[in-house]
Amino acid sequence: MNEQPGRLWVVATPIGNLDDLSKRAEQVLCNAGLIAAEDTRHSGALLARIGSRVPTVALHEHNEREQVERLIDGLQQGGDVALISDAGTPLISDPGFRLVRAAREAGIPVSPVPGPCAAIAALSVAGLPSDRFVFEGFLAAKSSARRERLQQLVAEPRTMIFYESSHRILDCLADMAAVFGERRHGVVARELTKLFETVLSGSLAELAERVAADSNQQRGEFVVLVAGASGEEADAILAEGRRVFALLCEEMAPARAARMAAAITGAPRKQLYEASNG
Ligand code: SAM
Repeated sequence: MNEQPGRLWVVATPIGNLDDLSKRAEQVLCNAGLIAAEDTRHSGALLARIGSRVPTVALHEHNEREQVERLIDGLQQGGDVALISDAGTPLISDPGFRLVRAAREAGIPVSPVPGPCAAIAALSVAGLPSDRFVFEGFLAAKSSARRERLQQLVAEPRTMIFYESSHRILDCLADMAAVFGERRHGVVARELTKLFETVLSGSLAELAERVAADSNQQRGEFVVLVAGASGEEADAILAEGRRVFALLCEEMAPARAARMAAAITGAPRKQLYEASNG
């Protein structure tokens, strides 16, 4: 048995344009002992293109728990494993978190081979403040749950980044306009690095209208970015939160009233509650 464990390489792959695969990613994918891929058939095309003959195993959300043990065993015996997903950076709205955590816990070295990530690619061209941002990944499929999450983000001052699929893009933009307000600025980045790449920028109402008016704009893969709340918007939300909180306090204990007022208006619960304590 080898004394040195292997290394787990977390390798980013293209999000559309295959030329975006880095030289180092290519080297790792040709030299690892094993490639753990989200979908081995899907990744087969990329691996064939670079002439990789490394065996692949599937690692996806339905088998990650069982596969982790096997992969950790292999790593402990000294073999290198490269982790890839269908596109972009593994673990970013993709499988791999359990494997990386288990490797770290087992003292196995884990190294990134950085590269494409749709969220970062979109942020880099959106023209929205990028010094601080929050990645929200996919919103819920159901409108009620989606709106609830958006409501919690209404006073968020940082740029927000969401992933969205073609069959929900219209509903998602409509919900965003309803919750954040029609005038809040947003960007829809579609099919990045691909033939029909489009980046639309405008108010959420304009974006919803433009995407609704052109069925081509509803096709493909999307990143939606929403500007954080401005100081004025945050002040208005807090003022509304205080108004609702005061009304609710007539009917219930302040802690509960603060929780409800925060859920209804998006105002920070702590600020509402603290105000009631003087
Ligand atoms: N791990 C990937 C990454 O690093 O970006 C994301 C995987 S997630 C399952 C797939 C989602 O990413 C798509 O539904 C879409 O929201 C976004 N996405 C992926 N490729 C994209 C592209 N070329 N243009 C716009 N969005 C993309």
